[in-house]
Amino acid sequence: MANPETYILDLNGKTRPPRSSLAETVVHDIDWFNASRASKRRFDPVLGIKGVVIHATAGSTSGGALQHWRTAANASAHWIVPAEREAEHGRKVIASVYEARAARHVRDDKSNRAINGGAALINHWTLGIEIVNRQDLDNYTDTYSDWQVQATADIVRYCWAKYPNLRWVFSHASVDPSRRADPGRQFPWTEFAGLVTAATAPPAPLPLVSPVPDDDEMADDSRQPCCG
Ligand SMILES: [Zn+2]
Repeated sequence: MANPETYILDLNGKTRPPRSSLAETVVHDIDWFNASRASKRRFDPVLGIKGVVIHATAGSTSGGALQHWRTAANASAHWIVPAEREAEHGRKVIASVYEARAARHVRDDKSNRAINGGAALINHWTLGIEIVNRQDLDNYTDTYSDWQVQATADIVRYCWAKYPNLRWVFSHASVDPSRRADPGRQFPWTEFAGLVTAATAPPAPLPLVSPVPDDDEMADDSRQPCCG
């Protein structure tokens, strides 16, 4: 298992996927989240987006994470990826902050020189994804489902297609290693990065066309029963 501090994917030079839509459900109080758990972006909300940060909730459910943000922590993220034990798993991700607003998922003074030139104010130039996972760092018993990994990659591909300057995909641990280890050693970063950068499906092959018969075959056609 890899060190989550090394989870950094640089998309520079890689082929951007086509525009896509997300299967997402929006929390009923998203307006409250936008007002109380998010901020006006300090950079252009489209051209200023440079990255996506991958987190894990350290809890068991999406509802638990949302309730923690509502009541205990001045924190938020743009999306939550539900776990196997939840009804949304396998169907849709949960949106809790508008993309145009800066969610609160990384401390303002954190940075990494290897990511976006070491720029701070990471919330203002990124989108944040929280994957529901207990983050039981002593024994790693809560593994990520294949759907969670694919759904997270799908969100990143959606963002990559939409934001022309998006280049960096990185773990919370990579920018705040003294405080955070998420999404943890059990997150399959290499597989995830492969899903993000996977080549899109090649164009469908041309339909098969019947070969034009040569003259001899044309002559032979006279012996065939004909159509009516
Ligand atoms: Zn985090």
